Amino acid sequence: MQTIHTQLLVLGGGPGGYIAAIRAGQLGLQTTLIEGAALGGTCLNIGCIPSKALIHAAGEFARVQAYAEQGSDLGISLQQPALDWTKTLAWKDGIVKQLTSGVGALLKRQKVQVIEGWAQIIDGKTVEVRDAAGSTTHRIQCEHLLLANGSVPIALPILPFDGKTTISSTEALSPRQLPNKLIVVGGGYIGLELGIVYRKLGVQVAVVEAAERILPAYDAELTKPVHTRLEKLGIELYLKHQVVGPAKGKATGVEIRPAGDENAKTTTLKADQILVAVGRKPRTEGFQLESLQLTMKGRAVLVDDQCKTSMKNVWAIGDITGEPMLAHRAMAQGEMVAEIISGKKRHFQPQQIPAVCFTDPEIVSVGLSPAEAKAAGHEVLSAQFPFAANGRAMTLEDTGGFIRVVARKDNHRILGWQAVGGHVAELAAAFSQSLEMGAYLEDVAHTIHAHPTLGEAIQETALRALGHALHV
Ligand code: FAD
Ligand code: NAD
Repeated sequence: MQTIHTQLLVLGGGPGGYIAAIRAGQLGLQTTLIEGAALGGTCLNIGCIPSKALIHAAGEFARVQAYAEQGSDLGISLQQPALDWTKTLAWKDGIVKQLTSGVGALLKRQKVQVIEGWAQIIDGKTVEVRDAAGSTTHRIQCEHLLLANGSVPIALPILPFDGKTTISSTEALSPRQLPNKLIVVGGGYIGLELGIVYRKLGVQVAVVEAAERILPAYDAELTKPVHTRLEKLGIELYLKHQVVGPAKGKATGVEIRPAGDENAKTTTLKADQILVAVGRKPRTEGFQLESLQLTMKGRAVLVDDQCKTSMKNVWAIGDITGEPMLAHRAMAQGEMVAEIISGKKRHFQPQQIPAVCFTDPEIVSVGLSPAEAKAAGHEVLSAQFPFAANGRAMTLEDTGGFIRVVARKDNHRILGWQAVGGHVAELAAAFSQSLEMGAYLEDVAHTIHAHPTLGEAIQETALRALGHALHV
């Protein structure tokens, strides 16, 4: 067993941990990172990146298939397209490999020592590393311990994961063969992003969602176009329904019934596979976190606005600290913690953390919605601009959806942006910047936006809120 001394010890090489380590290395901190699975964490290996690759592949396949079956106003006609699924998966895995080896190279360049293995916490300054066989390979003493252990999928006790029939997003992102029918439990981010992928690839899909509408974290106006699209794609929706157990008898599937009505009759849904996507929880078990006796916030490690835990020199970032469980939040926290440890004055007080749902159409929400702004005590000015009135959207054949702005009525300071439509994820940067820079409606309305772009609809939304949109 090797003994190592380091200034900063990072547990986990996901977006939180690897960014913290890169920044710490840049700042000259002697840094060690322990990763048990693969550098890049959930996001690069089994989350954001592979899911977005499959969303793109499925979208392309559905597009050419529609051309073949229905023809196209663009004058394109095709023979029936075919899908080489093995090649699709290899393409997706190639992107993951490129990105994860890039992370390894970046860490190496900053002289971060990366140790493969599973960390076991001994105390706030001592961690042991075990290899896959369970043998202890390293004992590490550190001045600062950074917990970036991420999260794991929530399992339903009545429908435990078995990795084959009842699966999580991890297996759903690498199926050797596509099922004929998939039941998705949970109509949130993962359930809908992946449910749409499977449907576009020709799988029959049924979504069971406990709430009365899909994507309950977003407001109904934003999710309506997605709901309409799901219906058009032929995805069966069982809203306000919950799973009460596996299908009776020998069939693969689930028994469902209306949520909250225990006396209601159950319905059997049959399928080849069931994807359970009912949320994720901080990973707090299996590495003796309890030995630190940290103050918790529910299942998450409680941190202050500098990502300090209740124990001196023990820090936590990313999904282990709870919602919102998003890669860009983990990265921002990781960068900040490295800077604080190196002596810089930093606090985690963003004006906004953008949320993007890569459904068809996409949804973006940045800052406050009209209802949230009102609940926060603001008198609100809100306006929408439809993509139907945007030339670029027409040339992209994507005119459904809209952009919405929320501003203070008294001084026009922008409080939030939301959008739903094709390609709107790429508008998130403009929305986030306007909030971080404290923009007013007039700032956006008087900025010249390039023509013809979807960005012009941002300007028009601000103009509309001021009462003088030009194209509606
Ligand atoms: P993780 O990425 O989970 O990394 C934690 C790492 O720590 C893991 O690699 C793990 O192996 C390692 N680890 C844990 N314990 C130990 C230990 N004891 N010893 C050694 N190593 C350990 N977010 C977005 O912002 N945009 C998206 O589009 C998006 N899509 C997603 C799609 C899916 C299917 C999923 C599942 C998630 C998605 N997310 C998305 C969420 C995003 O992946 C997470 O928010 C992000 O990965 C959190 O980063 P993290 O560093 O906190 O943890
Ligand atoms: P989620 O919280 O987005 O959605 C879970 C859904 O399941 C909710 O709509 C909830 O009402 C429903 N639900 C809960 N229990 C249920 C039950 N018993 N029966 C039926 N429905 C039930 O969670 P997720 O989709 O598993 O994703 C986990 C997390 O991963 C997200 O919260 C997000 O932080 C992250 N993620 C982000 C992105 C992105 O940024 N584009 C994409 C995927 C995942």
